[in-house]
Amino acid sequence: MKHLLQNQRKLFLSGLLLLAGFLLAACAKPAENYTIEDFLKVEKIDAHVHAHADDPAFLEQARADNFRLFTINVDYPDFPPIEEQQRVVVKFLQEYPGRIAYASTFHMAGWDDPGWQEQVIRHLDSAFAEGAIAVKVWKNIGMDFRDQAGNLVMIDDPKFDPIFAHLQGKNIPLIGHLGEPKNCWLPIEEMTVNNDKEYFKNHPQYHMYLHPEFPSYEDQMNARDRMLEKNKELRFMGAHLASLEWSVDELEKFLERFPKAVVDMAARMGQVQHQSQRDREKVRNFFIKYQDRVLYATDLTHSPGADAGQFKQEVHEKWLTDWKYLNTAEMMSAPEVDGEFQGLALPQKVIDKMYRINSEKTFPGAFAAR
Ligand SMILES: [Zn+2]
Repeated sequence: MKHLLQNQRKLFLSGLLLLAGFLLAACAKPAENYTIEDFLKVEKIDAHVHAHADDPAFLEQARADNFRLFTINVDYPDFPPIEEQQRVVVKFLQEYPGRIAYASTFHMAGWDDPGWQEQVIRHLDSAFAEGAIAVKVWKNIGMDFRDQAGNLVMIDDPKFDPIFAHLQGKNIPLIGHLGEPKNCWLPIEEMTVNNDKEYFKNHPQYHMYLHPEFPSYEDQMNARDRMLEKNKELRFMGAHLASLEWSVDELEKFLERFPKAVVDMAARMGQVQHQSQRDREKVRNFFIKYQDRVLYATDLTHSPGADAGQFKQEVHEKWLTDWKYLNTAEMMSAPEVDGEFQGLALPQKVIDKMYRINSEKTFPGAFAAR
């Protein structure tokens, strides 16, 4: 009898051990993360690019790497005129149905004319008729454009209200590149990432450290926040991590304050990597907590005259490097950041949201073939 009991106990204990082993194996299950090999397999969207060269290279690379492109027209002196950007993207919509979608924008010229708002609304409506599904406002508002009296126009100016109300009524999202990375207000040598150092070296007119008479970083963020307070129902995507790229804590405050807002990562991956060099767990936890609010994006720009082969290679490398950082736990480096950092190894379901689902929700029907 005693012997039998002992046997039963042995059996029970080995059962327990087996269960514990099974649970451990389940927790360490590698399928939690995508690998480098999964890059081509997974359907992805780059939610912020500029495809305005009349050349198929960008679209071809997107197809090869299983990406769809959300291209954003901008009133930017470095880019072709808005009308030319529009012509090229409408052509792409026809030639690559379902592969590309776009956001329109508007000119600030004519601001002082009494009919400016109506003119902008008419222009935007014609862009919507041509397939635009969002509208972009750019940093020229707040950092460059002045009215006839010489005052800098900020984004919370009441003159924008009818335009934003029009978008809200149509449920069209507004994309805001407002302000700049915080680095813009620092001397070059104090900037945290190499891409900012290079950009502001080449664009001193936008390097606010050199222009202390302009609004401060905080002024820009406050104007944006006041605009959002006025337009609570407006769907908003803060481009470039809403210019809060330097701190996931600040970004968290913004996302909590404006529950309708989402942010794109365009051109700010270096800032994220820089933060993760200092506290990887904190950055990783941020992306897990806000997995429904962040859109993967690069700001890759195909300008007219660029070498097609070289551009394709650059695009592929950028997409692959970002994939490695967000999906794996490997030690790695990137041109934007000095020194090594470790990948975030975000779970597959977080990746699927950042790389596709959040874009599809922000821009519903954007990629429907027309
Ligand atoms: Zn951009």
